[in-house]
Amino acid sequence: MIERGLALLDARRRALLDAMGIVIWEDRSKPTVQTSAQPMVQASALGSPEPAAQDSVADLNWADLEQRVTGCVACALHRTRSRTVFGVGNQAARLLVVGEAPGAEEDRRGEPFVGRAGRLLNAMLAAIGLPREQVYIANIVKCRPPGNRDPLPAEAAACSDFLARQVALVGPCAILAVGRIAAQNLLGVETPIGRLRGRLHHYGPAALPVIVTYHPAYLLRSPDEKRKVWTDLLIAKDLLDAESKP
Ligand code: URA
Repeated sequence: MIERGLALLDARRRALLDAMGIVIWEDRSKPTVQTSAQPMVQASALGSPEPAAQDSVADLNWADLEQRVTGCVACALHRTRSRTVFGVGNQAARLLVVGEAPGAEEDRRGEPFVGRAGRLLNAMLAAIGLPREQVYIANIVKCRPPGNRDPLPAEAAACSDFLARQVALVGPCAILAVGRIAAQNLLGVETPIGRLRGRLHHYGPAALPVIVTYHPAYLLRSPDEKRKVWTDLLIAKDLLDAESKP
């Protein structure tokens, strides 16, 4: 009886933290043992239904994947978003651009990189002969973090299968990771961006080439770094040019 009461209290605390957008870290190295004396309390019993476990997205086509993203409630960001921001562009692009997360404008319009940083990204791509419509653009997370804070590791992890499926569906020659969050999450490292840019990395089982550069929002604040971004973009251009040679 006392144990049941404690379990209820714990579930209430979790539901409250979840409602506040606070991610609970758990030590997954210890198996959770459930005995009949400690029944697992369903969140639905507390008025906040727990999302049903979803099937893998690995076989989904574009339409089904987008639908899955639109209905996603896997992390607390779904509570504060206006719209999900799936991705946009050429679904057979040779270059896939990965950013961090939607900002306010993207959250309103449901499209990545449509604000000031987006206009600069378009100019960066145009500088290597790639109009925005020719590339595919997606983000590490599909929902806007409140106040434009960095996405939490758990939020990025909750979204990572969506991005992996987008990469597989596009089948690009290369990925351009813009900004620290995109680069570190794609590569699974915590290395500072200054040490990641300027050389080639690889993503996923197909070891797709990844070029890292600064985020256009950072460039708007630090225009002196544009020279470094230009050298990164040239790495991407050389790679694409080499891939297109017979
Ligand atoms: N910054 C990003 O990283 N992604 C967007 O979609 C917009 C701004």
